[in-house]
Amino acid sequence: MACIGAFASVVYASHSWGEYHWARTGNPFVLKVGKNVSVAWGSHLATAADNWSASEVLDATVVPGQTNPKNCRAVNGRVEVCDSKYGNTGWLGIAQVWVSGSHITQGTVKLNNTYFNTGKYNTPAWRQFVMCQEVGHTFGLDHQDEVFDNQNLGTCMDYTNDPDGAVKGQIGNLVPNTHDFEELAAIYGHNDASGILSAGTDAASGAEIGLDNPAEWGKEVRKASDGRGSAYHRDIGHGKGVFTFVIWAQ
Ligand SMILES: [Zn+2]
Ligand SMILES: [Zn+2]
Repeated sequence: MACIGAFASVVYASHSWGEYHWARTGNPFVLKVGKNVSVAWGSHLATAADNWSASEVLDATVVPGQTNPKNCRAVNGRVEVCDSKYGNTGWLGIAQVWVSGSHITQGTVKLNNTYFNTGKYNTPAWRQFVMCQEVGHTFGLDHQDEVFDNQNLGTCMDYTNDPDGAVKGQIGNLVPNTHDFEELAAIYGHNDASGILSAGTDAASGAEIGLDNPAEWGKEVRKASDGRGSAYHRDIGHGKGVFTFVIWAQ
């Protein structure tokens, strides 16, 4: 419980979530991002990986996927990005990040076509915004702002109802901004003794939890301005857990 309290106080000071990071022996490190997405999402994944790789500390490299997009089971030491019709789950996109101690061991991004196939969300701007944000969470970044209808900050890590800025004539939230790169430089400012750590069998069993279902996400650790949860933590024992970051469909 003390750990959760510390987490809550840290996130307001910065937008990492408790300094969780991938273990690596130096920068830039290569993070494999598995492509398990359909044609409609391919260019958005490529763009997001390119944008984030402008960071001096990491290279997000898109590689062939190793999971079934329908369940998007996590793969040790990698991020798997998936799209599917996950149903009326309430969420537009989620990022799920497995941690062991302070280190990230694996991650998944799920994009829910049940909502992206509707008129409101079936736009390049909504797709790019959500892809960029969910991939960003898998590096250890939190949201910069969680109010949907205030002015855009120019980063995909800022909740918005106006992803490309066209509605209000403002800057778009389609790419990372300077502050995101500063935050990455801070949380990856040290070297670890080893490369990317194994999630192990405990975390693998965590992948069998029904992680599409918000009821399985565990304790709400962050709340957005609309009163809905924005981040959750499920303890899976042995110092391990799964964080879920969510963008709800409106
Ligand atoms: Zn470390
Ligand atoms: Zn998010």
